[in-house]
Amino acid sequence: MSRADPPDLAATQEASRGKTPLLSVTDLRTVFYTDKETIHAVDGISFDIYPGETVGLVGESGSGKSVTARSILGLVDEPGVVEEGQIRFKGDDLVETGWDEHRGDLSIVFQDPSNALNPVYTVGNQIREALKIHQGLTGAAAAERAIELLEAVGIPDAPRRVGEYPHQFSGGMQQRAVIAIALACDPDLLVCDEPTTALDVTIQAQILELLAELQREEELAILFITHDMGVIEETADRVNVIYAGEVVERAPTETLFAEPEHPYTSALLKSIPGRTPPDQRLPTIEGEVPTPNAPADACRFAPRCPIAVDECMRDVPETVQTDAAVDHAAACIFAGDNRDHGDENR
Ligand code: ADP
Ligand code: MG
Repeated sequence: MSRADPPDLAATQEASRGKTPLLSVTDLRTVFYTDKETIHAVDGISFDIYPGETVGLVGESGSGKSVTARSILGLVDEPGVVEEGQIRFKGDDLVETGWDEHRGDLSIVFQDPSNALNPVYTVGNQIREALKIHQGLTGAAAAERAIELLEAVGIPDAPRRVGEYPHQFSGGMQQRAVIAIALACDPDLLVCDEPTTALDVTIQAQILELLAELQREEELAILFITHDMGVIEETADRVNVIYAGEVVERAPTETLFAEPEHPYTSALLKSIPGRTPPDQRLPTIEGEVPTPNAPADACRFAPRCPIAVDECMRDVPETVQTDAAVDHAAACIFAGDNRDHGDENR
């Protein structure tokens, strides 16, 4: 999470060039076969994550962020299936080999800490359980490590609090405990699926700061998922904007915020609180994300797009590189050189 320090961003990108990605997702397709319909929840998504960087996945509710996360972790349940694509992690394609070899290398933190914790076991018990499964640690060694982990996530008085139950922790402290459990397996990649959405703003800032610190210390790679562009700006080095199961734009965070190419990204940016004068109503995007219940035969954003033309309703837009040097790309016929044409329609 080097966003707080822009010069670091360039250094990170420079350093990652030529390196092998830790995770490489290629043309991932996850489908839910429900009684009623076939939902193409993740419909051909590709992105890379390099060691030690934070990659953001942002989009409105229902756009396929959590299904992407669950697909990467091998947690898609019936009636869902990872139908196509590769999830290459440390050289293995997890879709082919399965997740067993890498269980401890990937961890996930969900939105609601009270759901993630088991109310009938102490916090320490749950950390020790994870240590036993993933590290083979038991007894005094596990007890000691559990306290260390609670200290690492900033829980004061850890030796005492390790024996407490989840309900004795505040929401923010519960999320810290969940992060401690996620770290117990010593992961290389931490997937954070809206980790601060259930928390109030002050606590949210503390958790983001904690993740940034852990990342610096542990060289963790983070896939950070949120619907909140403000949070993305603070956390991510690079961003993928997702809409109805597809990545519609990808760019380094700074580039995305300064020069959005996709009208959906522009709309998301306009709806960030604080970017609109206080006397004006915050713009929202009319309508909602469509359920991708058929293969794409047009731009899925077109019905809500302020600059859409007939062609957008007829053809699937290609993803075009608008700045190859920083890997800025967008799936819009008005992206890049054609943007002027789109401006005429605005
Ligand atoms: P997000 O996390 O971006 O809010 P999700 O990834 O949860 O969105 O959902 C993406 C799409 O997949 C939605 O249309 C949702 O209805 C569908 N979906 C998710 N889980 C299931 C499931 N278990 N069964 C059927 N459809 C699902
Ligand atoms: Mg979600």
